[in-house]
Amino acid sequence: MIFASPSPASARAPRAFRHRLAATAGATGLALTLAACGSTTGASGDSGAELDVLASFYPLQMVVEQVGGEHVSVGSLTPPGAEPHDVELSPAQVAQLGSADLVVYLSGFQAAVDDAVDEAAPAATLDAADVVTLQEAAAGEDEGEEDPHGTLDPHFWLDPSLMPGLVQAVADELTRLDPSAEDDFRTNAAALTQRFEDLDAQYETTLATCTQRTFVTAHAAFGYLAARYDLEQVAISGIDPEAEPSPARLAQVEQVISDAGVTTVFFETLVSPKVAQTLADDLGIQAAVLDPIEGVTEEGADYFTIAQANLEALSVASSCS
Ligand SMILES: [Zn+2]
Repeated sequence: MIFASPSPASARAPRAFRHRLAATAGATGLALTLAACGSTTGASGDSGAELDVLASFYPLQMVVEQVGGEHVSVGSLTPPGAEPHDVELSPAQVAQLGSADLVVYLSGFQAAVDDAVDEAAPAATLDAADVVTLQEAAAGEDEGEEDPHGTLDPHFWLDPSLMPGLVQAVADELTRLDPSAEDDFRTNAAALTQRFEDLDAQYETTLATCTQRTFVTAHAAFGYLAARYDLEQVAISGIDPEAEPSPARLAQVEQVISDAGVTTVFFETLVSPKVAQTLADDLGIQAAVLDPIEGVTEEGADYFTIAQANLEALSVASSCS
């Protein structure tokens, strides 16, 4: 009787088999199919296998989790609390990439992920760089050093107005992979888009009032935010947070701070605050956190709570009303 049922769960059984086949015997796959059918207690009937999605770092992971809801199981290639730029992947992670239903990443940001995508050839990929128009990294911040990531600035997620494009693309791709859950993906995507739009409006209103338009950050993560809200970012190091600033660069930044009357040097949560802290101490000004939302370190924090904290920090440092 169960096998004769045309339920969505049994229709989706081949996928459950396909992506578990390497590790499980056919009998286990059958058990999973039966369990899926048996668990169709709700009216929705969409209790089929979850899509296995791997995201390369936190903001992408968050979008997939929010849009996919109960229909996806999302892993991140960057461990929580790790700095994503220079992530390294184990052979096991590369293999995991090959068996995922979908890999969501940002080409040009994490070299190890780009290599692993080439090597493991996942069933489906979504490259955020194909969805969002990336802007050039601000000139001068890398002092002409060779930049292995190219000259495009990866940090688009710090401009909330660029996120709905990604949300839409994720919803489209998840729908392609699991059409039976389309209604849920569209509903979730609409709700998440609204949150980004509300956040963008709040940033716009608040930051329009700032009398100080220049802010100083540890690494050049806030170019998109600055461009969107008409602020000027001065970064101590470049696009890559691990790059040590030269004495010449530090002297330049000190000059900007005193010329513009900057009151605060921002540092980050995932890289050492030492350089920013020392600079602030030397100049007798404040040091405070501005988080590039490249990972989440605090229990209960997420993209939106961090974005709120960033807005408050910027408001205080920039004399916004
Ligand atoms: Zn960064």
